[in-house]
Parts: sequence; C-alpha cells; structure tokens
Amino acid sequence: MKSYRLVKTYFLEKLHLVIIGIICLISVDMIQLFIPRIIKRAVDDLTAFQADTRSLLTYALFIIAAAICIGILRYFWRRCLIGTSRRIEEGLRNRLFSHIQTLSASYFDKTKTGDLMAHATNDIANVRMATGMGIVAATDAVFLGTAAVGFMCYINVRLTIFALIPMPLIAFCAKYFSKRMHKMYRRVQGAFADMTEVVRERFSGIRIVKAYNLEEDSERRMEESSKYCIRQNLALVRITGSFFPLMILFTNLSLAAVVFLGGRQTITTDITSGDFVAFINYLNLMTWPMMALGWVTNLIQRGAASLDRIDKILKTQPEIKQPEKAVSDMPEEGGIRFENVSYSYESGSSPALSRICFEIAKGQTLGIVGPPGSGKTTLLNLLPRLYDVEEGAIQIGGTDIRSMKLEDLRDRISFVAQEPFLFSGTVRDNLLFGNPGADEEKLVEAAEMAVFHDEIRELPNGYQTIVGEKGVILSGGQKQRLALARAFIRESSVLLLDDPVSQVDMDTGSAIIDTIRSLEGHKTIFIASHRLSALRHADRILVMEKGMIRNSGTHEQLMEGDDYYSRTFRLQEMEEAKNAF
Ligand code: ADP
Ligand code: MG
Repeated sequence: MKSYRLVKTYFLEKLHLVIIGIICLISVDMIQLFIPRIIKRAVDDLTAFQADTRSLLTYALFIIAAAICIGILRYFWRRCLIGTSRRIEEGLRNRLFSHIQTLSASYFDKTKTGDLMAHATNDIANVRMATGMGIVAATDAVFLGTAAVGFMCYINVRLTIFALIPMPLIAFCAKYFSKRMHKMYRRVQGAFADMTEVVRERFSGIRIVKAYNLEEDSERRMEESSKYCIRQNLALVRITGSFFPLMILFTNLSLAAVVFLGGRQTITTDITSGDFVAFINYLNLMTWPMMALGWVTNLIQRGAASLDRIDKILKTQPEIKQPEKAVSDMPEEGGIRFENVSYSYESGSSPALSRICFEIAKGQTLGIVGPPGSGKTTLLNLLPRLYDVEEGAIQIGGTDIRSMKLEDLRDRISFVAQEPFLFSGTVRDNLLFGNPGADEEKLVEAAEMAVFHDEIRELPNGYQTIVGEKGVILSGGQKQRLALARAFIRESSVLLLDDPVSQVDMDTGSAIIDTIRSLEGHKTIFIASHRLSALRHADRILVMEKGMIRNSGTHEQLMEGDDYYSRTFRLQEMEEAKNAF
C-alpha cells in the first residue's frame, strides 16, 4: 500500500480530469437508471389504454435523448479516466527507465534484460488497468449497483430480495474467472513471446542455420512453439467460453424468479405492469456492477503487486554513487595510480584482480598483456567506475576517482570496449556519440585516425549509411574501427583501449598503432592487447596472470626478464612473418 505514493503525484496532477471523469461516469449511470422509468410510464399508459401517438413519441424522444447523452458522456469519462491512467503509465515507465539507467554494471550482470522488459510492460500495464478500469469498475459497482437496488426496492422489496439471490454468484464467478483468465492470458502472451523469440533468433542466425543444415531443426522448433501457443490459446478460450454462458445463466435465474413472482404480484396488482417491465430492466442493469465487483478486486490486487515490484526497483540504489562531497577544483593534469587494487565480481569468489599497484605519468602509454581471463578488461573497467574497486584506490592526479563527480571522471576518459557496440543509426550518429558537438572536419579526422575514412566513403551512403541492428552491415574490423574513431573524436585526456586491433589485418593494425603512438604525450593511454607488437612501444607494460601483475617493465626489459613475454612475442613474430608471405 505504501507504494501507492508512486501514482499519487500523477493523480494529483490530473485531479481535475479524474473528478470530471467520475462525474461523467456517474451521470451515465443515472441516465441509464432513468430509462426504465420511461419504459414503466409507457407500459402503464398502454395497459390503461391512455397512450396516444403524441405521448409515445415523447417517450421515444426521451429515450433517444438519453442515448445521445450517454454516448457523449461515455466519450468524456473515457478521455478523462483512461487518459489519466495512460499518463500514469507514461510517467512510471519514464521514471523506471531513467532509474534503471543509473544502476551499476554489476546490476545488469545479475539481472536479465527480459525481466526488466517484463517490468516495463506487464507491471506497468497492470498499474494502468488498476488506475483506469479499476476506478471505472469500482464506481459502477458501488454507484450503479446500489442505485439499481434502490430503484428495485422502490418498486417492491420482497421481489428485490428474491431477484438478488443469484447476484453474489455473479460477483464470485467474475472474481474467479477474471483471475483465471488473466493467468491464462499471461501464458498466451508468454507463449507468443517465445514463438517470436524463436523466429528472431533463427533469422538473426540464418547464416549458421544454413551452414549447418539446421533448417529442419528450426522448423521443428517453430512447430513446437506454435503448437504450444495454440494450446495456450485454446485453454484461454475454454475459460472465456464458459464464463459468459455462466453469467447469462445466473442473470436468467434472477429473471425466472422475477417473471414468476413479479408476474403474480402484477396479477394481484401489488405492482403495475410498468413496474414489472421496469424491474426486469433494472435487473439487466445489475449484471455489470456485479461482474465489476468481482473484477475490480482482482484489478486492484494485481495493480498493487505490480506497483510493489516497481517500487522495489526504484528503491534499488546504484552501487556506484556520486561522491557526497565532490572535489571542486579538480587537477587538470596528472598521472594515474593504482594503489593495491583488488576486485572480485562476486563476493567470496576468487578475485578478478588482486593487489594491483602501478603508476603511470600523464601522457605515457601503458600496455597490458596476459592470457584470456587474466583481468585486463576488468582493470580497464575500473577506471571509468563501471565497477568500483573493492580494496585499494585509483587516483588521477593524486585525487581518488571516487571523490570526483562521475560526469567529470567519465568526461576525461575515452573508452573502446573489447566488443565494439554500435547503436542502430547511421555511421555518423555512431561517431557523434563520442562528441555530439563535433563538426564535419573533426568527424573525418577521427575516421582517418582509425583508418576507416576511405572505407566509409565506399559505403553506399557514406557517413549517412545506416549500420543496422548492432551494426550488422559492417564487418568485425569495421565495427572495431568505428568504435575507435568514436573514441578519437572525444576530447579526453585518458584513452582506454581494450584489444583495439584484434579484428583488423596486420597493415591496418599497424596504421592504427601509428595513430595511437602519435597521441603519445597528449593523452594517457592504456592498451590491453594480446598482439604484443601493438604494445612494444609502450612506456611500461604490465604482464598479467590470474588477476595479478606477474611482471612489468619496458619491452626490452621484459624480453630479457620474462619467459612468457619473450616466448609469446617470438611466436607472434614468426606467425606475422609467415602471414606476410
Ligand atoms: P581478460 O580481459 O584478461 O580476458 P577479464 O577481465 O575479462 O579478463 O576477466 C577476468 C576474470 O573475471 C575472468 O575469470 C572472468 O571469468 C571474470 N569475469 C569477467 N567479467 C565478469 C562478469 N561480468 N561477471 C563475473 N565474472 C566476470
Ligand atoms: Mg578482455
């Protein structure tokens, strides 16, 4: 119930609309209750042989006027109440999105994107239903229900009691069935999502499917998931199919009681024929509020549960926080120092980095080598605080990075991740992510630095070419160079490169390394690479093993003093020589 405050602000913001909506809704109910009164008059006139064309026409016109008013007012309550619930949906969704964005990388390691999508769709839809249709159903159940009972009692109390006996059945049934229907509906949605996922995955992996002759396997999977989808749909149909006939049965039980008992009361003139007909009309009006009564409790329960789940996410604090008191006069310049840094992804597991110590002066280049899994990527991730050190500290220019404003810290860093990630959009858009204010000249310069400009020009639309989902139309090497250019375009003093030449050929790789060397002195550069020739000019090279620095020094020193380094370097040199022929 506490999470109710999440929607309160939106309600208050649109309070006038909610009030207008509820007034319209109640007006519709009142007009609906008024119609049986007109019918009663008409029937009484007819049975007393007092009706003439004029009076009948008046009654008919009244009914038409009522119908028109109902139509107009329904439009308005929908606009006001359902509109407000849509506003709540929008507000919650945006809030959830911006909050989730602030959460740390480790949160995303643990949480499945699918779960987040489910919160963003199902939970928010539940809240929308509870705040929109929930209010409508509750108002109708309370107002239309009691008013109709009142009118019925006004005609005859005893008859009302008999007619209402089956009504609780309708409410209970509606509650039971709407719960089941919702559950089944979710399963149908789930089955449909699974089926869509099969299609998406099989088509995005179509090259592997063809190369491995997996067409039949794909077809079988598709058949299975579409069969499952149909089964779920049929299960839903079984429930909806029995719900409505049951409702009609219960209503007709009441109707039977009224025809029999009310008919007798009409004969004994306890009630008039008009009352008899009006009574039946009120009985029909009662069905919806009774169903609404059952439905609304489910809507509200579901909405509340969803709201709690959303609230829980909103209360999750990002692990990486802004410092409480950020350093205001940040040193413009300075080297980078790792002081006894340790980090493990999960507490208790063996550390991905342990007791890393080194220092590198501003404008120098640091190379990091080591077998896969030795902690190179982890080390780079710690600098922009994608993860926070567990022990020890990292300093830039003598200031602990945890006491800098996150934006200030990240503004100083250009980062090229191991897996280049491109957003769908044009080549130009992807470059500009690095520096939205860059002009054309800068754009071209950065592309040239990444040895990519000429190839971009050969693309069908040059810089305006759409790269597609995650950059599908580009080769691995092209993606990598686009990611590099994106880092070069950024005006930053620190450059972090995680295996920047892993996917390009030797010559392109050498050209890129030349670019990186030309930045020496201007930027502090970290390069992790398994291609040792890319690092040989670094001012200092760390040789990593199992999260520790096993050796460090210049290329020459390591060739002398480190077996792993010198062996790997010679092997790679031979390999490169072989490839050159
Ligand atoms: P490298 O870049 O040298 O190949 P990494 O820094 O990627 O090494 O990995 C170091 C260790 O941390 C490995 O044992 C790896 O399994 C582990 N690791 C890396 N990323 C994660 C993660 N997101 N969650 C849990 N463990 C991770
Ligand atoms: Mg790595």
